[in-house]
Amino acid sequence: MSEPVIRIKRSAARRRTISARLVDGGATIEVLAPAGATDAELAPIIERLKERIQRRQVKRETADDAALRRRAQELNREYFEGRLRPSEVRYVTNQNTRYGSCTPATGVIRISHRVATMPAWVRDYVLVHELAHLLEPNHGAKFWKLANRYPRTERARGYLIAVGLEGDSDDAPAADVGDTDESGAGGAA
Ligand SMILES: [Zn+2]
Repeated sequence: MSEPVIRIKRSAARRRTISARLVDGGATIEVLAPAGATDAELAPIIERLKERIQRRQVKRETADDAALRRRAQELNREYFEGRLRPSEVRYVTNQNTRYGSCTPATGVIRISHRVATMPAWVRDYVLVHELAHLLEPNHGAKFWKLANRYPRTERARGYLIAVGLEGDSDDAPAADVGDTDESGAGGAA
């Protein structure tokens, strides 16, 4: 997470109150202040605002990943008798054409942040799909037998095709399975 930029806007129309809001998609904190406010007066206020906004951001990011991990464990219990051992399950922002990736060798599962805003049953399918790769790296019949334990697999695949995120075919090598951990987007594309 990068440090937000501070932009101060002084306005004669403002008499006393100082307020702030996030602009530029959260990259900038815009501070609205009375015309007479000095930098020295604003500094401690801006510092507090910055801390508050960053705390909120950290909380939101970790909460998301924690919830995703919890959900993965629930699905692991429900569809894999709880025997899978993913080492890491988290959202990433560098996967825009794939919904997720799995590196069976290390147990790392990454889910595109785009999935976070999709219906829960689609997110669950994506988790089941990547969890199943811990047992079956390829998209063969064995793999789909595992993935189809999740009852809404077909429907979720339709949803993902519709939003342009399901590019795998059943017999091709799985594009979402990597064999090294830090290969950026998650391995063989
Ligand atoms: Zn796959």
